[in-house]
Amino acid sequence: MHDRDQLYIGGQWVGASTGARTPVENPATGQVIGHVPEAAAADVGRAVAAARAAFDGWSATDRMARAAALAALRDGLIARRDDLAKVITAEMGAPARLAGGLQVNLPVQVLEGYLRLLADQPEPERIDGSLILREPVGVVGAITPWNYPVHQAVAKIAPALAAGCPVVLKPSELAPLSAYLLTEIIEAAGLPPGVFNLVPGLGPVAGEALASHPEVDLVSFTGSTRAGRRVAAVAAETVKRVALELGGKSANLLLPDADLAVAVKVGVANCYLNTGQTCTALSRMLVHTSQYDEAVDRAASYAAGLPVGDPTDPKTRLGPLVSASQRERVRELIRAGVAAGARVATGGPELDGLPEPGYYVAPTVLAEVSPDNPVAQEEVFGPVLSILAYRDEADAVRIANHSRYGLTGGVWSADPDRALAVARRLRAGQVDINGAGFNPLAPFGGYRQSGIGREHGPYGLAEYLELKAVQLPEAR
Ligand code: NAD
Repeated sequence: MHDRDQLYIGGQWVGASTGARTPVENPATGQVIGHVPEAAAADVGRAVAAARAAFDGWSATDRMARAAALAALRDGLIARRDDLAKVITAEMGAPARLAGGLQVNLPVQVLEGYLRLLADQPEPERIDGSLILREPVGVVGAITPWNYPVHQAVAKIAPALAAGCPVVLKPSELAPLSAYLLTEIIEAAGLPPGVFNLVPGLGPVAGEALASHPEVDLVSFTGSTRAGRRVAAVAAETVKRVALELGGKSANLLLPDADLAVAVKVGVANCYLNTGQTCTALSRMLVHTSQYDEAVDRAASYAAGLPVGDPTDPKTRLGPLVSASQRERVRELIRAGVAAGARVATGGPELDGLPEPGYYVAPTVLAEVSPDNPVAQEEVFGPVLSILAYRDEADAVRIANHSRYGLTGGVWSADPDRALAVARRLRAGQVDINGAGFNPLAPFGGYRQSGIGREHGPYGLAEYLELKAVQLPEAR
């Protein structure tokens, strides 16, 4: 059992103000594997007060002190990789290979990115007679999801610490155990009391208390568009900065001159990463009508061969979904897609042949998906790839942009200039050409209902900084 009964506030492990506890379930077994306390609004208030008290000291530290903190955090993540991986697999079902790989490598890369930024000492900016200063925004409230639980937390903690801001973290109630390991790593890094605080709890209680708290200067939220909308609304009352990293329904556009076999295989693997529970998943594959049938066949046969099962088995590629309700939601969306005219090329909503117990869904490829089909419009957050046909490049771009989201996109072509020209026309915050990989220094975030603001690298850091213009007397 991974029972935890304390919060981390002001550098101390302390009890919560009520005895309420959240059970944590292993989605591969359906068993409760631990409990965490549920922070109430009063506990969030204590954490924010501790962060506020730490602000003057931490905001006055130099780059060396902040870099030392980030480096200690990075080293701690690497040293505890195996512990983190086991807990992540147990609490949210990520296959072991991914949990010990990407789930830990991503936050390490993000920390390395901010360490690179801290190593540079840019010249202070001048605009005519004004000196432009960048100062820490203040106390940061971080609210994170369960799908990459450590990465999503570090994506907020790292820039906050680098900028000189104390943080209060409210992790997902579905995967809070890894946040405890992260807190132990941060504690061992020896930060001053109150610079980092952990308040696990429910979204509508602890999350809203954090987002609405008048002493929080920036609320940085990653999660669903539904909850993000609520966070923005409650934050508006106290006019604070709001950063939202939300959902996606991203398009992967295969141009006819692409290497179809490679593009389809990489595209399916991308869509199914973390069992499809990835905000950047390229869940709509757009294929020219002349190659459509071949692409569907290739995608279906590759998908059907992927090992589904026990996430602790290193050979497993697809584990369970995070919860019973998430599995039902995914099955419902597959059924809605079929009702709207899609054809199941492989997989589907049925559970026959899937491991039991555990919240498994078969890797699913849907063909003949029209651009308005609910499965092409709604974020599924499961291993479900929709393949759509297009007539020409203009049609492909139109279908790709026919979404209320705009997080990422993909373009595949043998001609780099053509691919770049298409990438420019996609309304999305990131576009990968021919499967190019994640850059931890590049701005990450969405257009439209995929969010507000950017994470990672210099643009991510800018979210945690206020601008001050000082007019110098010699300019008069
Ligand atoms: P969720 O919105 O249910 O929960 C995310 C966090 O918000 C949790 O900590 C939750 O407790 C909290 N929350 C819920 N309701 C709240 C409220 N009313 N006020 C304040 N906080 C509240 O999302 P999830 O199911 O944990 O994660 C899946 C979603 O996250 C998907 O939509 C996915 O696309 C999105 N996501 C986006 C990114 C990105 O960077 N764009 C990354 C990962 C996940």
